[in-house]
Amino acid sequence: MNEIEDSHSRKPFRIAIVGGGLGGLALAIGLIRHGIGVHIYEAAATFSEIGAGVAFGPNSVRALGPTDESTLRGYKKHATFNEGPKRQHTFLSLRYGMGSCNGNGKSFSFSKALVSVGEFPGEESGVNDVRLHFIDRSTATASAIVGCDSIKSKTREAILGNIEHGEFINIVAVRRKNGATWEDGQWVVPSTKDEMLRDFGSWHPAVTNLLSHSLAQEEWALFDLQHSAKYYKGTVYLLGDSAHASTPHIGASAGMAMEDAFLLSSLAGAIRDQTELEKAFRAFNAVRRPRTQTVVEYSMLSGFAYEFMKDDVGDDFSRLQADISARFEWLWHEDLEAQLLKARKLMG
Ligand SMILES: Cc1cc2nc3c(=O)[nH]c(=O)nc-3n(C[C@H](O)[C@H](O)[C@H](O)COP(=O)(O)OP(=O)(O)OC[C@H]3O[C@@H](n4cnc5c(N)ncnc54)[C@H](O)[C@@H]3O)c2cc1C
Repeated sequence: MNEIEDSHSRKPFRIAIVGGGLGGLALAIGLIRHGIGVHIYEAAATFSEIGAGVAFGPNSVRALGPTDESTLRGYKKHATFNEGPKRQHTFLSLRYGMGSCNGNGKSFSFSKALVSVGEFPGEESGVNDVRLHFIDRSTATASAIVGCDSIKSKTREAILGNIEHGEFINIVAVRRKNGATWEDGQWVVPSTKDEMLRDFGSWHPAVTNLLSHSLAQEEWALFDLQHSAKYYKGTVYLLGDSAHASTPHIGASAGMAMEDAFLLSSLAGAIRDQTELEKAFRAFNAVRRPRTQTVVEYSMLSGFAYEFMKDDVGDDFSRLQADISARFEWLWHEDLEAQLLKARKLMG
């Protein structure tokens, strides 16, 4: 897939979209719906899935419907939601993951809660013995185990597997390297499981155990674009990550691209000819810059909070929850129709 062209234009101008990623495609769908001809130029030869899954907050989902009803239907068909009624409305759960070895954590003494069970060849018996791994990182061996650990039995998992699991787990493990700069020209570089386990070696066994099953062989750099420049010059406009990439800590970047696509396609749909395009871009910039740059900042702040690096919050869970929730409240409860109205007024 290098080029896609829609030839059913009803407007006397055409828009070239460079990049057929999430934002480019959403914009193309919106513009076509408004009768605007588009041509997508994409560097990659084919569509493929990259990295971990993309989480869509309520604001992102709300932006899909008005852009095009079929996009929302497609999203609902393919999206994976939290399992079980108890977690239906959960976007984020916080758990302490490590001790205080880097000065930002919290120390815990754990009980002998069983985490996992493994078999190994017994030296004397000639049959397999079992090794028990506990939450406090200690291990024990025995000839056999009898699981009497009730309804949420960990022992049962050794027999049946974790019956609560989906088939696939996406893990994004983020490690801040203070003072370090990213020197590599590539932002995704090869890595190994050993390197990853070294980076997270001091974490809770439940985390390291999960990571040890990972198939990941890559390390990603996290960049963001916090700046005060306009998102357009003349009739060249930036949408999505090219304008306002943010770190992944509030799962908002794709949603911003969806919101951008809805607003820009709606504004472009309201203009008569090419001479009005710059006016639309100017109005779009005026309503989108403040929100998207705040997202970049909020995402960075949430990253600090997750790592107990926010001075006003530290590792106090109730403060953390309030601090993080306040940013999600702001992010999710945006009135896109009001933004559109404002931009239309600015266009005059
Ligand atoms: C691992 C990972 C996890 C993420 N998780 C989340 C999440 O949970 N929630 C969330 O909201 N966001 C998430 N994001 C961010 C989200 O994927 C992006 O914000 C979103 O894809 C931005 O859309 P975009 O169209 O701007 O860029 P992309 O989707 O990155 O698309 C850009 C496209 O442009 C093409 N391209 C690049 N250069 C050129 C060129 N010179 N010429 C032609 N084509 C070109 C690329 O091949 C690509 O197809 C995640 C990102 C990653 C990498």
